[in-house]
Amino acid sequence: MSLAPRCTRSREPRYARPVPRHEIHEAPDAPNTHGTDGARQAHEVRARQCTQCGATIEMDVRALSARCAYCDAPLVDEQRASTRLDAVAPFRVTREIAVAKLHEYLRSKPWAPRAVKRLAVDGRALRGVLVPHWVFDGVVRSSYDARVGIHWHRVETYRDSKGQTRTRTTRETEWFHLAGTAARQVESHVVSASMGLPEPESNALEPFDLGWAMPVDSRLLSGFEAEVPSIARDRALTTANEELRSAEAQRIPGTLLPGDENRLERIHSQVDIARCRAVLLPVWIATYAHKNVTRRLLVNGQTGRCAGDVPVSATKVTLAVLLGLLVLALAAVAIWWRQP
Ligand SMILES: [Zn+2]
Repeated sequence: MSLAPRCTRSREPRYARPVPRHEIHEAPDAPNTHGTDGARQAHEVRARQCTQCGATIEMDVRALSARCAYCDAPLVDEQRASTRLDAVAPFRVTREIAVAKLHEYLRSKPWAPRAVKRLAVDGRALRGVLVPHWVFDGVVRSSYDARVGIHWHRVETYRDSKGQTRTRTTRETEWFHLAGTAARQVESHVVSASMGLPEPESNALEPFDLGWAMPVDSRLLSGFEAEVPSIARDRALTTANEELRSAEAQRIPGTLLPGDENRLERIHSQVDIARCRAVLLPVWIATYAHKNVTRRLLVNGQTGRCAGDVPVSATKVTLAVLLGLLVLALAAVAIWWRQP
């Protein structure tokens, strides 16, 4: 197997021993750590024979699944899939439900052009793609300095403009310095391993439930598009590090720091990855053209959550701005009219 600790169904305590980084980065038998140079592999193809009709089919070198051009039989390169991937999370949302979810998603966009809101997504135009992702488990440990503010109220007396003594309450904040540490276990942090699905789009579809991931089996891939990772694990690890650090910088002030208000002044987070898996995750993808621009819509194949590129209608925005100006103008006239 290619990836260092492959213990998907292990009974060992999962994070008993943080694996030193060099052990994860450089597994000696890890062809997919460095062998995922998408640019180099992009146009390479290899010949496969259709198991149903015997025709010779050209498959993209990264593809794990295809359909025979002659008889439409699904072809799966199971050997390649099982050596390059650790698990597959199968589709749980059917094509029909995905189409319904997309229609709901488009209708929920008030600023979308009418043509897009009424876009009839054809079930046949929806492609079921098992997108490779790198899935990281580990621990994030942080040390931080913060300022914590406690509110208190001061009652003071003063003389008003008529010389009368009055009292008023003002709120004061007293600031304290606080240094601390925090640790959080990371379970199944998902980073796209496909150049076809950039990380922001993958994030928009999250969460994925890795509890449904199963060992690689050609029956789970059959009929869907699937490919091996085209983004190297090290590059995904850098992305995971950045995402996890920034999540800690958000989480700690929101959930850990005491006080009525607080400010995080310094944070240093160290991410220790204990396990990394290459997993195929299910995504429905539809493309559509609007004003000569091809855009795409995505549906999480586990949860039905939709994401994607929906344009904003210039006409609707202009009308809204004009309406707003009209309301302001009417209000101004009303105020002017009431003046004595
Ligand atoms: Zn065939």
